Amino acid sequence: MFCQKCGAQNADDAAFCNSCGTQIVRLGESPKDKVIQAKIQTKRDQIAGISQTGPILLCLLGLPCLLLYIIPGAIMIGVAIWWSSSRENEKKKLENEIKELQAEIAAIGGK
Ligand SMILES: [Zn+2]
Repeated sequence: MFCQKCGAQNADDAAFCNSCGTQIVRLGESPKDKVIQAKIQTKRDQIAGISQTGPILLCLLGLPCLLLYIIPGAIMIGVAIWWSSSRENEKKKLENEIKELQAEIAAIGGK
């Protein structure tokens, strides 16, 4: 055990330094250390007491609400894409029919 004032080595159970006579304070044993450690313990207890139940519950409630918007939204977009592509196919089919008819006209005109 070393003296915190002069650094002289003392017996582990020495109460006072044999070199300078200062009272030897072991870490965690001085009244000041005890007060600080009590404060640390209080704050640790406060940390342990801070519950996340409220925010978790709010998330559990928010998730279905989010899905309630996402699912119908995704269905609407999916239907819109399908609808758009089916209309595009209908347009192509009609354009092909026009080409066939124009080919018929060309065939008649060629005779
Ligand atoms: Zn000393």
